Amino acid sequence: MSELNPHTKHREFNGVVGALGITIFLPAVLEFFQLVCNPTYSIKGINIDFHQISEQLPTTSQQWLDLAFNTQVWKAYLAWFFGLVVLDQILPGKELQGVELRDGTKLKYTINGVSMSVSLIALLFSRLAVSRNFYLPELQFIYDHQLHLVITTIIFSFILAIFVYVYSFVPLTKPNGKGTKERILSVNGNTGNIFYDWFIGRELNPRIGSWDIKLFCELRPGMLLWFLINLSCVHQQYHIKGYVTDSLILVNILQAIYLFDGVLNEAGCLSMIDITTDGFGFMLSFGDLAWVPWSYSLQSRYLAIPGNEVDLGWFYFTAILLLQFVGFYIFRAANQQKSDFKNGKLNHLKSIETKTGSKLLVDGWWGMSQHINYLGDWLIGWSWCLPTGFQTPLTYFYVIYFASLLIHRQVRDDMKCQAKYGKDWDKYKELVPYKIVPYLY
Ligand code: NDP
Repeated sequence: MSELNPHTKHREFNGVVGALGITIFLPAVLEFFQLVCNPTYSIKGINIDFHQISEQLPTTSQQWLDLAFNTQVWKAYLAWFFGLVVLDQILPGKELQGVELRDGTKLKYTINGVSMSVSLIALLFSRLAVSRNFYLPELQFIYDHQLHLVITTIIFSFILAIFVYVYSFVPLTKPNGKGTKERILSVNGNTGNIFYDWFIGRELNPRIGSWDIKLFCELRPGMLLWFLINLSCVHQQYHIKGYVTDSLILVNILQAIYLFDGVLNEAGCLSMIDITTDGFGFMLSFGDLAWVPWSYSLQSRYLAIPGNEVDLGWFYFTAILLLQFVGFYIFRAANQQKSDFKNGKLNHLKSIETKTGSKLLVDGWWGMSQHINYLGDWLIGWSWCLPTGFQTPLTYFYVIYFASLLIHRQVRDDMKCQAKYGKDWDKYKELVPYKIVPYLY
């Protein structure tokens, strides 16, 4: 095994067993959400009527096949995914370089989140302008085919993960066209176990030409589908009830701010663990393409079901809006401060030198806790759940799941930084002892 791609010894998620559990369990969770949160069956409290749920499921293998491989839904999803690939390739953007890779090179990225968002919004408005009574068949299609689409995005994420795994073995042609060179694998995804490497992601940055599959999936098909699913819920409520509740409007606004913030500030992604360290395998493929749109849109889908409407009134509307702004302020300001610091600005802030040559900030936001940005992100999550009221814990799934994701992420990052900075990281942790929430955790 060459030095460029060292053999992975440590296996995350309890290795193959954990990876297998996640691969089976999380897609099942998404299907369960859909079955308990749709116009036919809407969960109340914590009681689940399994008989009524099972009645929604196909009974014959042919019906299952029709559900999983509905031609119309697959055509629509493939048009969505590859249409975005084409837009990603042709829309103008800023050329940026990623972090330095193990072979000393840096990848080039075209950062065109702004032109992508403007194009999508312009398309939506132009469709609305020519619509009758704001009726858009595309949004109705999404609303009416939720279960089909959940299953389609899951299957697609499996297929994409298989593709990138196999692709990671194809030798890479050198930029001068003469001969081949080794691909850079993820430090986590080179165990040699086919299933585990497929799950965690073998290649660090799978690319076809200039199309970077990982960055594309992180911020395009799933995030923007989430936006459309939310809009389809507004569309549904408007056309069924003739009005849209303030709670549904609020969830749509808050989540649109969050997701477009991600798409518009995609340059910030280049220094995230997902891009710098994780390979692209089933974990990210499923997370980006299926988990984000279908679990993050749960609040909107719940509120759009007749009988689940929540009228917040101005007081709660404003209070929840404020909560999002507080969370957002912490999240953005902390991430910006770290990014500015890494780019050589903010030299007046206290930091410690490390043997690697880079410094660790121990001041400002980063003096309060090791991941104060996670706290901001979590508060934002609360502002998405609260508009659903307190009729069922299901709509609070996001904050519970997100807390465990952030804690797990903090542990992973701690291990990464310990390996990178050694004793300097111990010194940093003495100066900044709290992991996420100052004085608490
Ligand atoms: P961080 O932004 O906290 O970045 C961690 C990295 O920053 C470390 O590996 C280290 O990298 C560097 N670093 C850590 N501490 C310091 C310091 N004191 N001074 C200088 N550099 C430091 O973590 P993530 O990449 O996990 O998260 C980025 C954002 O994405 C967060 O705001 C998070 O909330 C959000 N997020 C959202 C998710 C969602 O599903 N909504 C999922 C995951 C994340 P280096 O090696 O460069 O020094």
